Amino acid sequence: MSLTDQYGRDIHDLRISITDRCNYKCVYCRSGNNGPSFPELPIADYLRMVRVFVGLGITKVRLTGGEPLLRQGLVDMVRELGGIRTLQGRRLDIAITTNGHLLTELAQPLADAGLSRVTVSMDAVEPQHFTRITRVPNGYERVLAGIRAAQRAGLHPVKVNCVLLRGFNDDQITGFGRFARDQGVAVRFIEFMPLEEDRVWSPEIVVTLDEIVERMAEFMPLREIEHQRSETARRYVFEDGVGEIGIIAPVSHPFCGQCSRIRVTSDGKIRTCLFSVREHDLGGLMATGASDDEMAEFIRQAVDHKQARHHIGEPGFVPASRTMVHIGG
Ligand code: SAM
Repeated sequence: MSLTDQYGRDIHDLRISITDRCNYKCVYCRSGNNGPSFPELPIADYLRMVRVFVGLGITKVRLTGGEPLLRQGLVDMVRELGGIRTLQGRRLDIAITTNGHLLTELAQPLADAGLSRVTVSMDAVEPQHFTRITRVPNGYERVLAGIRAAQRAGLHPVKVNCVLLRGFNDDQITGFGRFARDQGVAVRFIEFMPLEEDRVWSPEIVVTLDEIVERMAEFMPLREIEHQRSETARRYVFEDGVGEIGIIAPVSHPFCGQCSRIRVTSDGKIRTCLFSVREHDLGGLMATGASDDEMAEFIRQAVDHKQARHHIGEPGFVPASRTMVHIGG
């Protein structure tokens, strides 16, 4: 059995936000004000949802937020996820996306609990620049220590995600090239999408895949390598074969046709696309005492309504009903 939408896409990748609180105030993501905060569900509720999703064919679960490492009970949650088996009888692929601020303390316990991989967000490789973006002092040193702790804990390959904005941090591109090689991490650049709290997005601010490849060549040329069909990132190595770079280009090279994702927000709403304007209240259904079978049917119906694609940059684009931090990136 698998979860397939009306366009024949196999949905096997669940992203679940376990809080929309965050200890960073990245200027391109959050306004810095205490914006709307959606209620958090008990961890046991997320786990029940995951079990139902896995019963439908989900094989990969990514915990995100807000900042997932802020959530009490995270390590126990990962341990519980580690005990779940997919329809094929395999362990779930369990990943976390984090800003890395609390990773030094948590990397080893998370690895011991069964975490497969970690992605750390970093939008600058210069400490002062990093602070200007996150608006939190001394974060750079903590995040770097967190990355090293994750490597020591065996969470390979550690991926580092960087969202580029023109005139803001695009001067970091070659620095990230050096960083990938020196630190032994896979750096992945992400094109900026219109999902921020303050309205700063414009087509001009997006640093596109082609431009990233071109500008990285000033440091050292990249060579594209093969990537799996459902993988969102195009993958590259430097011409000498050392250091991996990925580029996730939802704006200039959309990959909606290969989308395998479904999301659940921290308050238990299913979103079938980052840019959804409609949500499906799985948490609300659970609260009425629904059975697992009823929840599974509800999920199937939601997947049936998954959008064909996003409409970023098109005339009449309708903004998503939530911003990234309240969806779960
Ligand atoms: N707090 C965690 C973190 O920092 O990774 C998880 C949540 S954060 C919202 C997830 C990812 O979304 C981060 O890599 C962040 O840079 C990215 N992100 C936030 N706003 C974005 C936007 N408008 N376009 C593209 N990526 C965005």
